[in-house]
Amino acid sequence: MDNRSRIKILDESLCNQIAAGEVVERPASVVKELVENSIDAGADEIIVELESGGCKLIRVGDNGCGMNRQDVFLCLERHSTSKIHKAEDLFALTTLGFRGEALASIASVSRFRLRSSATDDGLGQELLVEGGHVKRAEEVGMARGTLMEARNLFFNLPARRKFLRREQTELGHCADVVTKQALSHPGISFKLSHNGRSMLDLRCEKGLTERVAALLGREMLMEMQGVDVNDEAVGIRLRGLMGQPSLNRSASTHIYSFINGRYIRDRVVQHAIMDGYRHLLMKGRFPVVVLFLEVAPDKVDVNVHPTKHEVRFRDQALVHNFIAASLQQQLKPANWVQPQTAEIPVPRSEPSHPAPFVAPLQTSFIREPLAPLYAHRPTPALTPDSVSAESVGVVSVPPPGADSSGPLAHFDDRQQYFSGLRYLGQYHNSYLLCQDGDDLLLIDQHAAHERIGFESLKAGISAGQIEQQSLMFPEILELDFRSSQALAEHLGDLAQLGFDVEPFGGKSFALKAVPQLLAGEDNRRLIVDIALDLEQVGSSGGLMDRLDDVLIMMACHGVIRANQALDPREARALLEQLDRVDFKANCPHGRPVMQRMRLVEIERLFRRQ
Ligand code: ADP
Ligand code: MG
Repeated sequence: MDNRSRIKILDESLCNQIAAGEVVERPASVVKELVENSIDAGADEIIVELESGGCKLIRVGDNGCGMNRQDVFLCLERHSTSKIHKAEDLFALTTLGFRGEALASIASVSRFRLRSSATDDGLGQELLVEGGHVKRAEEVGMARGTLMEARNLFFNLPARRKFLRREQTELGHCADVVTKQALSHPGISFKLSHNGRSMLDLRCEKGLTERVAALLGREMLMEMQGVDVNDEAVGIRLRGLMGQPSLNRSASTHIYSFINGRYIRDRVVQHAIMDGYRHLLMKGRFPVVVLFLEVAPDKVDVNVHPTKHEVRFRDQALVHNFIAASLQQQLKPANWVQPQTAEIPVPRSEPSHPAPFVAPLQTSFIREPLAPLYAHRPTPALTPDSVSAESVGVVSVPPPGADSSGPLAHFDDRQQYFSGLRYLGQYHNSYLLCQDGDDLLLIDQHAAHERIGFESLKAGISAGQIEQQSLMFPEILELDFRSSQALAEHLGDLAQLGFDVEPFGGKSFALKAVPQLLAGEDNRRLIVDIALDLEQVGSSGGLMDRLDDVLIMMACHGVIRANQALDPREARALLEQLDRVDFKANCPHGRPVMQRMRLVEIERLFRRQ
């Protein structure tokens, strides 16, 4: 029997390489860590130079506070940091870095050079490091600031080198990192060059708007609007720029979300943003947003991932609902329908506190003027059959006692937009032609009415007018521990939406009744999905999605079709109703309700310009 110990403590440089496995995935990770250090050092000028997509060289220079002779050596040690000193500091972070392992990791997997000066005497210290070992140290002439250089990334780890992609791909990732850092720090000037060619040259700007214009282009900026919602009581704030629904992309690449100044792709935040744009985008489309979420540092833990790409919120549901409601609030009046101006107005709105599932909807429709439309058409075939056009009408009646908080409470001048247009006529029995100042507008009557109908049906639901259908045989469902806990906490919300779910011992539940609208659907599956949503993001879009799908279908059947002649009175009634609903710029499938042609464009067509 061999009595020697089999367990060994790994040597320092191997430890660093292991840590590097988590921190340094590719050149872009090095760029991220080095630029973050420059930002933490208070620099207002950061220069990033790359060669061969960063595989050959990554060099980051800054004019920050620099390091003295001792610190230049210390900074390369693992767990060496100037940013935190005690455990409590972890919950009051003001810097991007704090783990003290980036430099040690990077230096262990590259040929590393670092020079820094913390004084104004024109002198600094330079170190040459190879695979984590200092090869040379000397004094050099330099201004205050720091320059770090990582060459031949993974030169000593051929297995990892193989994972590097084409130069162009790696370069793309690096540029992406710099873009995100530049968006969150408009006050810092950034330069990025590749193989000696300048790729980005951003001067320091006054604010986000200017930075977005410089990075994403003025044209995109024109289609964006400011948002700033602050709930001081809870200690949460959302500010930034959000694109109008017509500005959308096929991937989520243009969802820039920052949490306390840090770019983070968080599941809860992403989900909440998509929820904010619910039914304003076509399926598979993503909005363009640059959003900064600020939460008290003790309400969010950033120390859950070595690269800090993920965070953990203390109260996920709160964060989720705050974001979704803030965006919806902003999108609701759909001021997009009016021509945008160059300035970006940032309305400061009070935070809204939505019900867990259903944001309060304030709308009413199918009032007097449009009633004849229904009257002279055959009763539309609604699905499910139990819902008739009459019941659609019923839900639109404002709840009793509706006054200042009632359906029309949010009226203001902006809400008179469509009714204030000059109606010119109907084109092809499908489009309403209107004039707005010098502009010609085409309004899709079907899309418009679909939105009106949809909002009205939803208003009915939020007013609690949900018909329930009891199941003859209650369905028993068994969930896993986490899902069952999440579901148990939200039984009241489910009841509000027409689901009667009762605990059935252990992790089981009995589904006894469902909203009539969803009778005959696979509600069992739906509840399981909802429970999972609740568990993961603290809020369920899944349920509303399913209900909404049915409502959309009903709205779609119940409304004016394309190819239906409208007399001017009916057309005007439609425009008036459009003013009364929220989210009026898009039909619930996300299609635009309106297109605008400017006079100059028309004159150009006739060669008058
Ligand atoms: P962390 O950023 O988590 O503290 P790093 O390994 O990235 O850990 O850096 C270690 C330390 O080196 C930092 O805490 C900081 O004091 C110093 N440092 C790194 N980069 C710079 C820089 N560009 N300017 C000044 N000091 C720096
Ligand atoms: Mg760092």
